[in-house]
Amino acid sequence: MSATMNFNETANYYITLEEKYGAHNYNPVPVVLKRGEGVFVWDVENKRYYDFLSAYSAVNQGHCHPGIVRALVEQASRLTLTSRAFYNDVLGEYEKFITGYFDYDKVLPMNTGVEAVETALKLCRRWGYAVKGIPENKAKIIVCANNFHGRTLGVISFSTDLHSTRQFGPFLPGFKTIPYNDLSSLALALEDKDVAGFLVEPIQGEAGVVVPDDGYLKKAKQLCEAQNALFVADEIQTGLCRTGKLLCCDHEGVKPDVLLLGKALSGGTLPVSAVLANDEIMLTIQPGEHGSTYGGNPLACRVAIEALSVLREEKMAENAQKMGDLFRSGLKKINSPYIQTIRGKGLLNAIIIQHKNTDAAWNLCLELKDHGLLAKPTHGDKIRLAPPLIITEAQIKESVDIIEKSLAGI
Ligand code: PLP
Repeated sequence: MSATMNFNETANYYITLEEKYGAHNYNPVPVVLKRGEGVFVWDVENKRYYDFLSAYSAVNQGHCHPGIVRALVEQASRLTLTSRAFYNDVLGEYEKFITGYFDYDKVLPMNTGVEAVETALKLCRRWGYAVKGIPENKAKIIVCANNFHGRTLGVISFSTDLHSTRQFGPFLPGFKTIPYNDLSSLALALEDKDVAGFLVEPIQGEAGVVVPDDGYLKKAKQLCEAQNALFVADEIQTGLCRTGKLLCCDHEGVKPDVLLLGKALSGGTLPVSAVLANDEIMLTIQPGEHGSTYGGNPLACRVAIEALSVLREEKMAENAQKMGDLFRSGLKKINSPYIQTIRGKGLLNAIIIQHKNTDAAWNLCLELKDHGLLAKPTHGDKIRLAPPLIITEAQIKESVDIIEKSLAGI
């Protein structure tokens, strides 16, 4: 980059670098960000935007939360990684803290969300053989159509999205796919005695914030209990106050047998994920049978304690609930022929755009960007709207105004 470049040239310079030297596995909105604070991010031209993606709900606590950054810096200068070959003075404290926080006997720490999912699949199969008594290599896990649980080969083996699976086969067997939000299909699938568990997103985030019927999670958990199968909740996107409760399952008073967390577990500072379960399940895995070099590192543990603490101290679940209601009612008042649907819970929301032009949702995101708000379409016509959970009433109102103005521009 040269000192004489103008603003546009600077942005183009960074975009060109990524195009030329990076794999083309993403299609970003053309904005180059250099700073974040709270609900805002700034681009290289110093233009400020509301962040309505929140790094796919990893930045629930807001960008560069001062408490989380302080914990990160303090721990980074003391001890970052020991591997699990040795004990360290933070992991145990973190394990005690997070199991108390969510009321489980044990936690298994990993890094990315998909690693937590992979861990849960292994745990579920192991429990199926060791406790339920499923014959070796026969275990099945029930999953839902249109799921998104990450990108590893194991996890895409049960994706129903062609973009995720095309020319990546052969895939892992042992999954049974049923429609989402369909209790009779679940009941039928659970009749198979070789089923070890049911893996479900309490709201399907990537599919476009698909909210199941009230009572679905509660009844699904009961069906699993009746057939001695584990209810595994992927709360990697829906958890940690995003939907207006600590966990999305809390809306129905459901306690998953296996709980998966990631993303906001570090407030957007580094990859930290976790699998929580009680002893009957967790202790089926023995030393040497599963692990990760970075899983449970002191830096991640210290940051996660702080990230969870600030969610509670700053009452982010309550704020998400309140601001979410305000946001959806503001959206409903917009008089635009292009909004087909508004849906969501707390601050996990989406609008579906109807327009003769199939690029309309993408074009709307470009308009939103021009007006100072960042969001990205998912599956063509859906735009997820999920700001950090610290957003205020005045900021929600300003954001609704931006969305209204932008809709007029497509
Ligand atoms: N599970 C859910 C529900 C997700 O939304 C995601 C990511 O978007 C993942 C798992 C995978 O997380 P990661 O990208 O950290 O591997």
